[in-house]
Amino acid sequence: MNISRRLKHAVITLGFCFVFAAAESSAAAAPPNPPTLPVADAKALSAEDRMRIEQAIPPAAPVTPKKPRRLLLFDLNVGYPGHRSIAHANYAFMRMGEKTGAFRAEVSRDPSVFQPESLKQFDAVVFNNVVGNPFSDAALRKSLEEFVRGGGGLLGIHGTTFAFTIWPGAKEDWPEFGVMLGARGGSHRQSDEHVYIKLDDPAHPLNAPFGGKGFEYRDEFFRVHEPYSRETLRVLLSIDTEKTDLNQGRQFGNTVRADNDYALAWVKTYGQGRVFYCTIGHNPYVFWDPLMLKFYLGAIQFVLGDLEASTAPSSAPPGTDTKPTARR
Ligand SMILES: [Zn+2]
Repeated sequence: MNISRRLKHAVITLGFCFVFAAAESSAAAAPPNPPTLPVADAKALSAEDRMRIEQAIPPAAPVTPKKPRRLLLFDLNVGYPGHRSIAHANYAFMRMGEKTGAFRAEVSRDPSVFQPESLKQFDAVVFNNVVGNPFSDAALRKSLEEFVRGGGGLLGIHGTTFAFTIWPGAKEDWPEFGVMLGARGGSHRQSDEHVYIKLDDPAHPLNAPFGGKGFEYRDEFFRVHEPYSRETLRVLLSIDTEKTDLNQGRQFGNTVRADNDYALAWVKTYGQGRVFYCTIGHNPYVFWDPLMLKFYLGAIQFVLGDLEASTAPSSAPPGTDTKPTARR
């Protein structure tokens, strides 16, 4: 993806992200660890959207938490206006935690929340569409890496494959984050692309909401880049290339992968930590879709450490040990 194409994408996105971006600037001076949904987020959601989210929240979590869980939702964007769906995901995840009792979520866009003393209060961190470089401080980056490596959870949504890159231009600024997450970048077609989705692992606990069947969806689906590899992660969902027209509308960057492998969601380990990534999350409606909220709720319980699920790489033979190990 070249810079001019990225700029076009940014401009297109700017149209519907403007309200959120304007609100975000006023939230810059928020306290390090705000206990409640920032005012900026509340304003970004219409009453109608909040109602849609409320009605879509699953009535119960897949498993009972082993202990009270805390989830950090981090959504700082730098050099990019921010996806409009950020507010919807924050609200949906917070309410899912409250309604099911599975966890308590808190939103922050202050990098100081990654200081070890702060981070240790949480079981997992969600990078909610974090585009650009949220912080360069080496100590904070080390703290995040050690948190995940030491057994914490990391959940990345959509644009997070561009976190810790300099935007615009997506210049790599912390390669280890891509290793942690499992991929970088994200060339894509238009944000309403119609895709047939295949379950790569139909019996995987995180895929339970789909009942063993693939499904159709419309969103902006990233075609991720290195270090993505089925040797290091377990793919849950991918584009069914037999059924999907891969040449719909415009493309932003090169959307063709030589291996024809278009993973959309996966799990992996990083040291002792659990990692989940899903590219579905560009459009706000993803977060008032009961099916996707069920999927994300299972993923949250996986990264929190409550829902046991295999992270054996897709390329590994059946029966491979699935526990997080020192390998990543
Ligand atoms: Zn997007």
